[in-house]
Amino acid sequence: NAGTSLNFIEQIVEEDIAAGKNGGRVHTRFPPEPNGYLHIGHAKAICLSFGLADKYGGQTNLRFDDTNPVTEDTEYVDSIKNDVHWLGFDWENEFYASDYFDQLYQFAETLILKGLAYVDDSTAEEIAAQKGTPTEPGRANQYRDRSVDENLDLFRRMKAGEYPDGAKVLRAKVDMASPNMQLRDPIMYRIKHAHHHRTGDAWCIYPMYDFAHGQSDAIEHITHSLCTLEFEVHRPLYEWFIQKLDIFPSRQIEFSRLNLTYTVMSKRKLKQLVEEGHVTSWDDPRMPTIAGLRRRGYTPASLREFCDRIGIAKRDNLIDVGLLEFCIREELNKTTHRVMAVLTDGRPDGKPLKLVLTNYPEDKVEELNIENNPEEAEMTYRRVPFSRELYIERDDFMENPPKKFFRLFPGGMVRLKGAYIIKCDEVVKDDTGEITEIRCTYIPESRSGSDTSGINVKGTIHWVSVPHAVEAEVRLYDRLFSVENPAADEREFLELLNPNSLEVVRAFVEPALVEAARSGTQTNFQFMRKGYFILDSDSTPERPVFNRTVTLKDGWAK
Ligand code: ATP
Ligand code: MG
Ligand code: MG
Repeated sequence: NAGTSLNFIEQIVEEDIAAGKNGGRVHTRFPPEPNGYLHIGHAKAICLSFGLADKYGGQTNLRFDDTNPVTEDTEYVDSIKNDVHWLGFDWENEFYASDYFDQLYQFAETLILKGLAYVDDSTAEEIAAQKGTPTEPGRANQYRDRSVDENLDLFRRMKAGEYPDGAKVLRAKVDMASPNMQLRDPIMYRIKHAHHHRTGDAWCIYPMYDFAHGQSDAIEHITHSLCTLEFEVHRPLYEWFIQKLDIFPSRQIEFSRLNLTYTVMSKRKLKQLVEEGHVTSWDDPRMPTIAGLRRRGYTPASLREFCDRIGIAKRDNLIDVGLLEFCIREELNKTTHRVMAVLTDGRPDGKPLKLVLTNYPEDKVEELNIENNPEEAEMTYRRVPFSRELYIERDDFMENPPKKFFRLFPGGMVRLKGAYIIKCDEVVKDDTGEITEIRCTYIPESRSGSDTSGINVKGTIHWVSVPHAVEAEVRLYDRLFSVENPAADEREFLELLNPNSLEVVRAFVEPALVEAARSGTQTNFQFMRKGYFILDSDSTPERPVFNRTVTLKDGWAK
């Protein structure tokens, strides 16, 4: 039975198609409000709405829900379009709710003429007080009985700009005693003398979400309008407007919001992080925005895979951010070249450890062939220069090692990745006792690929050739928040920021890495033994910058 693998929305759609509803057509929309950058939660909504239309041969509109002039901006419109495209989706039409302002206004007059809407002069506080509580019914006020003519006249004057902000609102006359608070005469229009990013100063009244959204769906003949669970209680109102206006019957279906551990997802909070400088920008690699994830090294396929794996549900839940990391790690494991980068500690002048091969000729440089990725079906190789002086990580050497330390120590042997087995003969220190150099000998017959030395060593360490190494800045990112569920914490969310979410270190990388990144052939890499990294846009020709996408360790159980 193929039906069992369908999610509940696909089931609804298949029933509708089978019943011949809308002529079997599937038309969805993604309706962002252009008041911030898209985040991973939006990616879920995008994959769902576009994915559904793709699956059933339908279409998806991109509709900007731009009915609130104060918070919206074209910078956000541009970033949203860019991010949806980047995720791999193409919309059928680009629409703006503000394009429907005339039509929505006409709809409002229609409801007034039907005696289903009225102008209310009460203040916001009075309206809230009259609304009652979930257990007590609301109270009607004297404005509810205004005549159709009076309502029409007042509404036209609201539109003409005769009243200041907040002086009047237009309300739907539904039911002040309804057990559903959303139906207690909801506001349809408010007065706002504000400049709109598209309509300029043409309007001083703006429709509320509830009066704009469903009507926009109907105007576009959207068949299945998918939104998050908090709109479930709005659905009776959505249907009331459609029914009273006798317009196209779009169907609203709700699904669970995505919440991620160690992350906040509200645009208001994300905006505050940017504006107060807790992060550098909307695309700071620590942000859960699509732009931030992209800069962190996530790929469109990895985000789509994540959205696929979390599926959809009718109850809100908290998803382990480890699953997101798992998805990108799986992909990068298959696609990235394994390269060598020697990282130092966090100090700006952090130094790697210098290793000198005393029996290797001074001027000799060998171009070693090192495989790019053992996962590749057809193995490719790159040339990596090797010489007498190398850098290795300080952690890969210990003067007094504990048992089972398989890296380098005095008298010990390791293999240099893709090169030779070496033996540590001598430790050189400066006056302060800090190790400045270690001196080793290499075994010429032990070259990787043609090793006839007969020597077995337990450890392999990575390295870069000192005269060929390129200095780089490496940004080690960690979770932005230090608690699992910041949104559920009673403390102010800013107090929950992880103070160590970014560590900047100096590194030395092999030259091929910089060439590949500059030519754009490959920008995601695995730094051997260190994690996955991506070239950052802050790079300069002199000093590349790499962001750590994720560590190699997989904390997620499959
Ligand atoms: P926020 O609360 O972060 O401001 P929003 O819902 O107001 O988000 P919109 O721009 O209105 O943001 O969202 C566009 C669409 O994306 C809506 O259909 C909304 O339901 C959906 N969406 C927003 N956040 C999430 C989320 N965390 N998970 C799934 N879908 C989401
Ligand atoms: Mg919204
Ligand atoms: Mg919002």
